[in-house]
Amino acid sequence: MQEELGASSLPVSAEDGVPDIAQAWARIRGRLREEVGEVEYRTWMRQMTLAAIEGEEAVVHVPSRFLRDWLRSQYGDRLRALWQAENLGVRRVEIRVAPPAADGAAASALEPAAPALAEALTARPEIRAEAKADPKATEPKGDWAAPLDGRFTFDTFVVGKPNEFAHACARRVAEKPASPGFNPLFLYGGVGLGKTHLMHSMAWALREPGLDRSVAYMSAEKFMYRFIAALRSQSTMEFKESLRSVDVLMIDDLQFLIGKDNTQEEFFHTFNALVDAGKQIVVSADKSPSDLSGLEDRLRTRLGCGMVADIHATTYELRISILQAKAAAAGTPVPERVLEYLAHKITSNVRELEGALNRLIAHSNLFGRPVTLESCQEVLHDILRAHDRRVTIEEIQKRVAEHYNMRLTDMSSARRARNVARPRQVAMYLAKQLTSRSLPEIGRKFGNRDHTTVMHAVAKVAELMQGDSGFAEDVELLRRMLET
Ligand code: ADP
Ligand code: MG
Repeated sequence: MQEELGASSLPVSAEDGVPDIAQAWARIRGRLREEVGEVEYRTWMRQMTLAAIEGEEAVVHVPSRFLRDWLRSQYGDRLRALWQAENLGVRRVEIRVAPPAADGAAASALEPAAPALAEALTARPEIRAEAKADPKATEPKGDWAAPLDGRFTFDTFVVGKPNEFAHACARRVAEKPASPGFNPLFLYGGVGLGKTHLMHSMAWALREPGLDRSVAYMSAEKFMYRFIAALRSQSTMEFKESLRSVDVLMIDDLQFLIGKDNTQEEFFHTFNALVDAGKQIVVSADKSPSDLSGLEDRLRTRLGCGMVADIHATTYELRISILQAKAAAAGTPVPERVLEYLAHKITSNVRELEGALNRLIAHSNLFGRPVTLESCQEVLHDILRAHDRRVTIEEIQKRVAEHYNMRLTDMSSARRARNVARPRQVAMYLAKQLTSRSLPEIGRKFGNRDHTTVMHAVAKVAELMQGDSGFAEDVELLRRMLET
C-alpha cells in the first residue's frame, strides 16, 4: 500500500497530525451525505477512505472496482469541487481500489468512531463477477470484511408472488430487528432466486447510519474459515467475543455447515448466546430447516423457531418484471418481445436470466447495434440451447399431432392437405418459439423442408393468431403444455 502511494505522498493518519485535512475530509463527506441522502451515501460513498494527499491530488480508496468506476463517473466532479472549496491546495481527486483491511491506519483514523468489528464487517461492496473470477484476490486470508454488493438493495429487488412473503419478512426484520416471532429469520429457496440479494438488502438497511448497529454478514463458509483460523491461532475467545458483540448476525448458505460438526457446534452456541441477548439472527439456506438433513437436530429445531420464509421458483410474470427493471437500469433499450422471449426460455433462476440479459446488452453496446430478437438468438445461442433441452422438436411434433388428431408421420410427409399442412405449420412455429434450432435445422426435421418453408410457416401462424383468437388460444395452449 505504501509503495503504491509513492515517496512524495503524505499518508493521512492521526499519528501524522494532519487534522486540517482530516477535518476537511469529514466535512466533505458530511456535505456529500446531505446532498445525496442517506441511502445513496450509504450505498456508494460510505466506504471511501482518504488514503493520502499527493501534491495537488487527494487519493481516495474504495474497496472495489465497481465502486471506483461508479464514484468516478457519478461523483468525480462533485468530489473535486468539494475539495477545491476547502482551499487546501487540492485540485484533483484520484479514486483507487484498495482493500480496506490492508489500509488500517489510514482508514480508521478518519472514520467516525465505530467498533472495530463492525467496521471490519461492514466494508466492501463487490461485484459478484469479480469475486468469482478470483476469490482469493477479493477475500484475502484472515480478512474480516464480508463482501456486501452495492447493487443488492431493497430498491433493486423486484417483488412478485414467488418472493413477496420472504421480501415482506426481510423488510420487517430490517425495520425492527429481534421482534418476537421473527427471530431467527430463516430464508430458503433454490439457487439464484435472490436469497443473498435479500440478505444484503437487509444488511444495508440495518446499517443505516445513526442507528449504530453492528451487523455481521457472512457466508457459512466464511464463518467456518474464520472459526478454524481462530482455532489455529488460538484466538477462539476473541472470535467468540467479537461475534457475540454484534447486534445482527447474518449467515448465508447455511447448508454449507452440513457435515462440519465442530463449526456447527460453534454456530449453535453463538446462535443461542445472541438470541438470548435479544439480538437478531438471519440465516439463509437452500432448503427448509426440516429438510436440512445432516444438521444437528437441536440446531434445526432452533432455526425453525422464528420465521421461516421460502422463495419459490420464478413465474413468467416475475421474470418479465425483473427483466424490465434490469433493462431500464442498464439504460439500453430492449424490445418487449425480446424480454418475453427470454422470460419464456430461461426459467431456471434469476441469475441466469440476468446473465443472459447482461450479455445481450454488453453485446449491443460493444457493437453499437440495437437489441433485436434475431441478435438475441444469435448472441445467446449457447445459453438458449442449454435451456431448451427439455423441449425437443420431436416432442413438439408429437403433441401437435395428437392435438390435431393427425398421424405423426404426416409431420414429415409431403401431403399438403389443409388439415395436415396447418398443424405442421403450427409445429414449426412452436419449434421456432420453444427451441433455439435454426430455420434450416427445423426444416430438416420436417421431412427435409427448406428453411424458407419454415419461415413462411412461422409468419403464417403468427398472422393467423392475430386474426383468429380461437386459433391463437389453441396455439398458446399447446405452448404451455410443452413448456411445463
Ligand atoms: P441466491 O443467493 O438465492 O442464490 P442471489 O441473491 O445471488 O441468489 O441472486 C442471483 C442474482 O439474481 C443476483 O444478481 C440478484 O440481484 C438477482 N435477483 C434475484 N432475485 C431478484 C429479484 N427479485 N429482483 C431483482 N434481482 C434479483
Ligand atoms: Mg446466495
